[in-house]
Amino acid sequence: MSTENQTEHIECLIIGSGPAGYTAAIYASRADMKPVMYTGIQPGGQLTITTEVENYPGFPDGIMGPEMMELFKKQAERLGTDVRFGMVTSVDFTGKPPYKVIVDENKEIIAETIIVSTGASAKWLGIPSEEKLNGRGVSACAVCDGFFFKGKDVAIVGAGDTACEEASYLSKICSKVYMIVRRDQFRASKAMQNRVASTPNIEILFNSETDEILGENSVTGVRVLNNKTNEKKEIAVNGFFVAIGHHPNTDIFKPYLKMDEVGYLITEPDSSRTNIEGVFACGDAQDKVYRQAVTAAGTGCMAALDAERYLSEKKAL
Ligand code: NDP
Repeated sequence: MSTENQTEHIECLIIGSGPAGYTAAIYASRADMKPVMYTGIQPGGQLTITTEVENYPGFPDGIMGPEMMELFKKQAERLGTDVRFGMVTSVDFTGKPPYKVIVDENKEIIAETIIVSTGASAKWLGIPSEEKLNGRGVSACAVCDGFFFKGKDVAIVGAGDTACEEASYLSKICSKVYMIVRRDQFRASKAMQNRVASTPNIEILFNSETDEILGENSVTGVRVLNNKTNEKKEIAVNGFFVAIGHHPNTDIFKPYLKMDEVGYLITEPDSSRTNIEGVFACGDAQDKVYRQAVTAAGTGCMAALDAERYLSEKKAL
């Protein structure tokens, strides 16, 4: 292995260490591409900040998110992935591959193929009680954590398609869902708005902001401020869901990779290929719709297969 400040030439670089990155690593290792993975500042990704994962097949009793990511890592390493803690700080995708990538601002890597699996981060409200009760009733993923509030009352903040979809999902599990909407209207599509409006156990609170999430060790309620009347009221809930959007971690790729206006990478249909030869994208960095561990893993597999095929064809030329 080369030391810092020395240029290292590799076949496959995987950027990011969530389910997409590790699955790509497993496939790339087994294809003998000797992948090197840089984990980013949050090794394991978003699953390391969730509690129990019950919807990933193969774990009949559920598994804690951080433990699951340790298992992903072990499997990738056993098969030969070189997993390194570090942050890719810049890339240069000009010309044809191989491309130059800089890690932690000082190490240079030259990679024949690059798999981008940098994920997305949930946006948070940024109030202290939200941080204090995160994982203790506060969650940014209804599909992951809704089940823990079966038969209970919950609140969800947001007014986009995600918030509506998640409110609708929660309404089937929970007794009551309060939707906290900051303006007097939704941002979501009409169809999604209609769905929540016609669900009897969803109550929409327009012109409402979260003043404080209540509870010491777990969520017991939420204090809501009506921004028209300035009135505050407390609502008893056991779960508090934040669905105000995600930010894909793709800023460093902006000069090169095609992305939508929010920053989600655009791949060719039925493929993980980006607009740049030899660069493949997978997981939440390119998926704003499903955003599940299992779908991320699926696209990670696709990226490694695409990278392997690309390299084989190139070598055969
Ligand atoms: P959006 O950016 O569309 O919506 C975010 C919502 O959160 C907005 O209503 C916004 O309010 C609200 N919000 C933002 N910040 C705050 C805050 N600090 N306090 C309170 N509310 C806040 O994000 P989504 O995740 O909903 O959707 C992202 C994209 O993915 C969209 O293009 C959406 O259409 C798409 N999507 C599609 C789905 C599908 O087709 N099935 C499913 C899910 C998402 P305001 O409106 O006032 O700005």
